[in-house]
Amino acid sequence: MIIGIDLGTTNSLAAYYTEDGPRIIPNRLGERLTPSAVSIDENDQVYVGKTALERMAVHPDEGASLFKRSMGSRKEFHLGGRTFSAEELSSFVLRSLKEDAEYYLGQEVTEAVISVPAYFNDIKRKATKRAGELAGFKVERIISEPTAAAIAYGLYQKKDSTRFLVFDLGGGTFDVSILELDDDIMEVRAVAGDNYLGGEDFTNLILDTFLEEHHIDKNSLSEKERLYFRNQAEKCKCQNGADSFFRMQAVRNGERLESLITRRDFDKKAAQLFDRIKQPVRRSLADAGVRISEIDEIVLVGGTTKMPAVRKFVGKLFGRLPDTSVNPDEAVALGAAIQGAMKERRESIREVILTDVCPFTLGTEVSIRTEGDRLESNHFCPILERNTVIPASRTEKFYTVYDHQTQVDIHILQGESRFASNNVSLGTISLTVPDNKAGEEEISVTYTYDVNALLEVEAKIKSTGETVTKLIKNQESDMTLEQMQARMKELSYLKIHPRDQEPNKVLLLRGERLYEEATGELREQLEAVTRQFEYILDKQDPDRIAEARKDYEEALDWIEEELWSGQ
Ligand code: ADP
Ligand code: MG
Repeated sequence: MIIGIDLGTTNSLAAYYTEDGPRIIPNRLGERLTPSAVSIDENDQVYVGKTALERMAVHPDEGASLFKRSMGSRKEFHLGGRTFSAEELSSFVLRSLKEDAEYYLGQEVTEAVISVPAYFNDIKRKATKRAGELAGFKVERIISEPTAAAIAYGLYQKKDSTRFLVFDLGGGTFDVSILELDDDIMEVRAVAGDNYLGGEDFTNLILDTFLEEHHIDKNSLSEKERLYFRNQAEKCKCQNGADSFFRMQAVRNGERLESLITRRDFDKKAAQLFDRIKQPVRRSLADAGVRISEIDEIVLVGGTTKMPAVRKFVGKLFGRLPDTSVNPDEAVALGAAIQGAMKERRESIREVILTDVCPFTLGTEVSIRTEGDRLESNHFCPILERNTVIPASRTEKFYTVYDHQTQVDIHILQGESRFASNNVSLGTISLTVPDNKAGEEEISVTYTYDVNALLEVEAKIKSTGETVTKLIKNQESDMTLEQMQARMKELSYLKIHPRDQEPNKVLLLRGERLYEEATGELREQLEAVTRQFEYILDKQDPDRIAEARKDYEEALDWIEEELWSGQ
C-alpha cells in the first residue's frame, strides 16, 4: 500500500486509497491533522503534533515548528541541546504519521507519495525525499501540492478539456497554480507563489491589534508568553461563526484581557495581505497566457481558505464562486493518496498522465561580445524557462569565445535575473576542448528535468564527441547512501512517544500549561485532579484509565473556562 502524505508547513496528514475513494488516516489522538511540530524531552522521547505544541508552551526551547520553510537549507534547529536540520525534524513528523498509518491500517506501510509546494526547487525536493527516507519510507514520488489537490477535486475525470486554478493559502505559504486537462493529460501550466504569506499573517494581525490595545510591547514578551498569546490569537481567528467580530481573550499577570475586532476592521487591516495575494495570481495568469475569464474552475486549498474574508476576496477577484467540495485542509493528502494508487495501477482509477512544470528558469552563464569587441561575462542565458512543462529536455549550443581557449566552464544556474551572479548556482561542469580559433569549438548543453524535478545537465563537445553529464547535487546537503544510513542510526536513539500513551500525555501537558497560567484555588484544583489522574495511570488498568481520562479532560475544560471567566 502506498499512502499519500501532505507534509505541510503548519499541518501534516496522511491518506490512503480505498475502493470508495481516498480516506484520511486519523492520528494517534484520533485527529485528522497533525501539526508539523516536534518536541524532544530529556529522555530522548520525541513528541510530534499537538502533543509537541502543548509541550512547547511549557518548554519552548525543546521544540520547533515551521521548519519546512528551511527545508534543504543548512539552518540548524536546537532542541534541548541537540541539533537537527529541517529535513530531520520533518522525518520525525513522517515517522509519527507512518506509525499511525500502520496502526490504523493494520499493516506495515513502507511506501509513500509526499507532496511539496510547486515552487520548491530541486534542493528542497530532494531534502523532502530524504526526510521520507530517514523516516523509513521508500518515497515513490514527490508530487506538487496543486497537482495533488486537483486530483482530489476529481478534475482528472473531466471529459472536456478544462483549465483550472488552484488557490492554496496555508499557514505560512501561498501557492497559485494553473492546470490544464486535455485528453487525459493534466498539465501544470504555471505556478507562482509567496513563501512568506499565509494564515500566520492573519493571526499576527489579530495578535498585534490585541497587544496594541492593551499596551503590551511585543518585544518584552518571553518566548513562552509569545507562544501563549499567539495561540490565543489563533483560536480567535478560527471563529468563523456568524459574529460580526473576532473576540480575542488572554490572561496576563492574573488579569483577564479581551479585544473585540470587527470583521470590517479586520478586512481593512488585511487589505495589504490581500494585495500581496493578487501578485502571484497575476503572474501565474500571465505566465500561462490566460485571462481570468478563461479559467473554468477555481479550487480552494489550505486551511486559511476557510476564512470568510478569504472566500469573499477570492469570489470578488475571480468574479465567481470557487469549488469547495473537498475539505481544503485535506485535498492535498487525498490527491497524493490517489496518485499513490495510480502508481499501483489500481483498476478503479482512470489512468492520467500527470505533468508538472519547472518552477524556476534554469540556464547558464555566458560571455557576450560588446561593441568595442570586449568580452563581458556574467550574462545569464536561459535554457529551460520557468513554467516549462516537465519532463522536459532542451539543448543549446555554445562556442568558444577566444582563440586558443581550451577550458570551458558550464555554470548551471537557477533564477530569473539577467545577470548570472544574481541567480542561484547549482554547480559547474568543466570541459577541456581542443586548442582552436574562437567560435570553432561547439559545445551542446542539454538540460533535462524529470518528473521528480531533478535536473540533469549534459555537455557534449562536437569535435571530439566527448560527453560529460552531471546530476545536480547540492554539495552542502546531499548525502550518500552510507551517510544517510549512518545518520539514521545516529537518530535511532530518539524514539517517537508510544502512541497508546499519547492521549494521556497530551492531557498531562495541558494540565502543566494550565498550572502555569492559573493561580490560587484553581491551581490547587489542578494539582488535585492531576494527582488523581496520575494515580490511576500508575494502576495500569486500561478501562479505568479511559474513564479517568474523560474525567480529567472535563476537569481541565472546566478549569480553562474558569480561567477565562476571570473568577
Ligand atoms: P499548511 O499547508 O501550511 O501546513 P494548512 O493548509 O493546514 O497549512 O493551513 C493552516 C492554516 O489554516 C493555519 O494558519 C490555520 O490557522 C488556518 N486555519 C485552519 N482552520 C481555519 C479556520 N477554520 N479559520 C481560519 N483559519 C483556519
Ligand atoms: Mg498545505
